[in-house]
Amino acid sequence: MDFLLDDQQTMLIKTIRDFIAAELQPLEDEVERAGALAPETAKRIFEKSRALGLYGMNMPEVHGGGGLSAVDTMLAEEQFGRTTDILIRRTFGNVYEALLVCAGPQIERWLRPAVRGERVCAIAITEPGAGSDAAGISTRAVRSGNGWRLNGAKHFISDGVFSDFFLVSAVTDPSAGARGISLFLVDKGLAGFAIGRDQPMMGVRGTPHVELVFDDVQLDADALLGQEGEGLRIALTTLGRVRLAQVGARAIGKATLVLEKTVDYARERRQFGQALGQFQMVQQMIADSIIEINAARQLLWRAAAEIDAGRDGRDLIAMVKVNASETLGRVVDRAVQIHGGMGFCKDLPIERYYRDARVFRIFDGASEIHRSTLARSVLKSGAKLFDIGA
Ligand SMILES: Cc1cc2nc3c(=O)[nH]c(=O)nc-3n(C[C@H](O)[C@H](O)[C@H](O)COP(=O)(O)OP(=O)(O)OC[C@H]3O[C@@H](n4cnc5c(N)ncnc54)[C@H](O)[C@@H]3O)c2cc1C
Repeated sequence: MDFLLDDQQTMLIKTIRDFIAAELQPLEDEVERAGALAPETAKRIFEKSRALGLYGMNMPEVHGGGGLSAVDTMLAEEQFGRTTDILIRRTFGNVYEALLVCAGPQIERWLRPAVRGERVCAIAITEPGAGSDAAGISTRAVRSGNGWRLNGAKHFISDGVFSDFFLVSAVTDPSAGARGISLFLVDKGLAGFAIGRDQPMMGVRGTPHVELVFDDVQLDADALLGQEGEGLRIALTTLGRVRLAQVGARAIGKATLVLEKTVDYARERRQFGQALGQFQMVQQMIADSIIEINAARQLLWRAAAEIDAGRDGRDLIAMVKVNASETLGRVVDRAVQIHGGMGFCKDLPIERYYRDARVFRIFDGASEIHRSTLARSVLKSGAKLFDIGA
């Protein structure tokens, strides 16, 4: 068992952290003000990151990615948490591991261009009538010619405006329940495929979240990802790593940044003749945040190590999803409290971090869904999820 970072890992963290501090954090206020990232800025940061080999680091080298292990991906993703969602997407890529299911001509058409950053992919599972219940979707794909005809609608799809293609879940066999859902690779621009309205959010400003409408969209035979009926299985197995990285690790990175800023403030701000950090009630809030961040990180690394060892890690991923997102919520709430009125005021970024943090407990499976999965697993299979002797 080894919890120590080696020199390469330390260098990876430093390289990304320095890049974010120099190139991305200075852009955040403008993104927040404008509610969008200017296309020329997006292009510039993408090119800089590509040149340094920082794009698509999670994907295998054989497809042009960085080939990082799951543990190293989490180290990188924790650093990504130090900036905003849209800047992460344009700079480092949101290249989903589900694309590794691509086979034959799909590899050159969708997978490799995504890894190279030439084509951006978004994931489209949620519908107005089906969020937590991903098997309850009504988008439908029926065989047509040697391809498929797609009808339905999705919503809340992150980055849908910029994306070139979408991983779309659709029912292919209504009689088969969860085993009747398939995943399709759907290109923007196909006849009948429309990007709907932007759905403004409380936070993550700069990332559009849109509705998608499919009205008799004709897909060719290559559009089916994996086997028919395998859609939810692919989503469950490959999106676990996305959940670990984009929610777990980024939440921990964000909590770390917020705590750093809070400690600085508690050192500098004086009331009653002393620094806020001298008050024991403030110290308790800081200490609790330190403990919770470290505990969340250990659980994250454990889950990533399980994936690197070839194990499923699904239950650990659920634990990380809940623990990291709720840790971030508590850390950023304490940060607002310690900053007092300045924590609520838009002159400092603390109020933005507070808004941005809230969704971590909701997307990629709300806390309640992951808690139910864990409880059901233990009730069914016994104590091995929490007892090393079981
Ligand atoms: C900013 C943002 C970005 C998103 N990006 C994407 C994206 O790119 N692609 C995509 O496909 N989706 C995306 N989503 C959708 C997201 O994954 C869903 O919002 C999420 O899965 C919850 O679904 P819902 O909103 O329909 O809530 P619902 O399913 O209606 O649930 C509402 C609440 O009810 C409770 N609840 C529901 N079911 C249960 C249960 N079985 N037991 C106990 N409590 C329960 C939970 O507290 C839950 O939070 C995004 C959402 C947001 C807000």
